[in-house]
Amino acid sequence: MTEIQGGCLCGSVRFTCKSAPIASYACHCRFCQRSLGTAYRAAMSFNLDDVQFNDGELRTYTYKSDEHGRELYIHFCPTCSTQVTATTERFPDRRVMMIGTLDDPSQIDVNTHMFADESFHWVSAHDDDVVYAKHRMNEDGSAAEPL
Ligand SMILES: [Zn+2]
Ligand SMILES: [Zn+2]
Repeated sequence: MTEIQGGCLCGSVRFTCKSAPIASYACHCRFCQRSLGTAYRAAMSFNLDDVQFNDGELRTYTYKSDEHGRELYIHFCPTCSTQVTATTERFPDRRVMMIGTLDDPSQIDVNTHMFADESFHWVSAHDDDVVYAKHRMNEDGSAAEPL
């Protein structure tokens, strides 16, 4: 696989992914909608150490979810405000990267949708996509059943 590289809008933060993503998905939850100001987050997950960053500054906003009480950490470029990566209290050894920040977003396909319960009614998945009402993992860590 060609190396996956990307960066923020202004170019001060750059990254290289050292592996293929563990998963790629669209997340339609209200947290993603509100924090990005748009319909859903198109994202990939990696092991924490599998993404290498340059020394461009990233700031962190910590959000505590009312729904499940855990913290979510959004790491953004303070110059251009791009959300470059996110980490979570729930999965501390994982890192979320945003497909829209890739130099070549066509490197990544998405056929998994999470939190369809919260998706805007005018957003639709393809017929053969895998769609979950909530997260693809249950609270106990078991795999959720797709719709
Ligand atoms: Zn930037
Ligand atoms: Zn979400």
